[in-house]
Amino acid sequence: MSNFLPNELIARLRDESNFDHEAFLNTHAKGDRITSIRLNPRKKAALTMPLNAPVPWCRDAFYLDERPIFTLDPLYHAGCYYVQEASSMFLGHILRSLGLEGASVRALDLCAAPGGKSTLLNAYLGTGSLVVSNEVIKSRVGILQDNINRWGMHNVLVSNNDPSAFSRLPGYFDLMVVDAPCSGSGMFRKDSGAIDEWSLANVKLCSDRQKRILAESIATLATGGYLVYSTCSYSSEENEDILDWIISEYGFSTVALDVAEAWKIQPTLSPVHAAHGYRFYPHQVQGEGFFVGVLKKTQEQETFGRKRAKPEKSPIKKDALRTWLVGDERLYAFMHRDDVHIFPKQYEDDLRWIQQVLYIRTAGTNIGKWLGKELVPSHELALSIFVNAEINAQELTLAVAQQFLRKENLDREVFENAGSGWCLVRHQGVNLGWVKILSNRINNYYPKESRIVHL
Ligand code: SAM
Repeated sequence: MSNFLPNELIARLRDESNFDHEAFLNTHAKGDRITSIRLNPRKKAALTMPLNAPVPWCRDAFYLDERPIFTLDPLYHAGCYYVQEASSMFLGHILRSLGLEGASVRALDLCAAPGGKSTLLNAYLGTGSLVVSNEVIKSRVGILQDNINRWGMHNVLVSNNDPSAFSRLPGYFDLMVVDAPCSGSGMFRKDSGAIDEWSLANVKLCSDRQKRILAESIATLATGGYLVYSTCSYSSEENEDILDWIISEYGFSTVALDVAEAWKIQPTLSPVHAAHGYRFYPHQVQGEGFFVGVLKKTQEQETFGRKRAKPEKSPIKKDALRTWLVGDERLYAFMHRDDVHIFPKQYEDDLRWIQQVLYIRTAGTNIGKWLGKELVPSHELALSIFVNAEINAQELTLAVAQQFLRKENLDREVFENAGSGWCLVRHQGVNLGWVKILSNRINNYYPKESRIVHL
């Protein structure tokens, strides 16, 4: 079989003990496509596609036998599941191993778009956590925001900052996930285009960039906090060497994880500090190439003065939102321009501290526009887990739900028994968005920019 993968990469992998390079090449030549999804634990629905075996290292995650056209599935748009590469779901096992499942922590996902790790963090951590989901590339923040909106949670803050901005929040986060931009060799099977772009020079460039990202942001992690560092690269310069470098420069210790042998994940030790790393090879695991290591900050980290402010009085009377939201005392509603947002009450002060130093795209869920006396509900509210279940709602068949998602005109007769005014539309009992029922027509409020086209 011809060697179609970069020779320099294969030569390096060959040097690794027990590396079955024939099997590695065969897997790439075969080019199987593996599809996996992770269910949203807070939006339970009966999926129409058959789920195959569970992904062993992640809760609520399954392989699919076939890849459906997700765009045509209303439950995908409703945020009932996230389509995610299986190896990267190992973050679930890490959170469980660190005792963080259900915990209330401040978590940062530094390189977050399109949102796979952020939605996983959100599903595993408790609702008393705050997840700051950051993406530096402006054009990628939109897709991140859409995926967070679909997930339906109020305790996520989406930001658009260079990693260096986080040094202005020293010692703030308990958990920091750095899923770093990398040379991408782990994705060769999925994306053969990446093969041509690979070079040793690019590996070096990526390694330097990874160091810069970490050097400029690492101060934001509190003493005793965990750093989860991952890439989809096979190159040690981007993996084990980075773990060694962090330990040498910033005072961290390695964290070993219990990994079942049956999972066929390759444990590694970094050359200088014997830091534990975990390698995922596509000829061994049912997933793509991936590397991850967990470190704990042992160095004393300075932090900032945390002034607690007097809670601001909201211009919106509590009762005004009662028709729209389930009455939850843990929510705090605030205005940004005309928009009303809901956010965890316990992080009201945190929001002020963060606001002073970061560019925030959205804090919590934007539930709609406040017109002085009433709310014009947003699409995000329809997808929120806090939307009031008593609101007028209409279940749609698959065909009509797809019409709604294409933002087409809907037949007035479908809504014959649904009253008038704002109405949630649902499929399989899960909210998809809003329509307004008028006497002679239905106004479809599905966001124009999200509508499905060409299908
Ligand atoms: N964590 C994401 C997920 O699970 O969906 C995938 C992240 S992807 C591997 C790496 C991300 O880093 C990309 O979103 C990319 O835009 C971002 N990125 C690129 N250059 C960066 C830089 N210089 N600093 C920080 N992030 C960067």
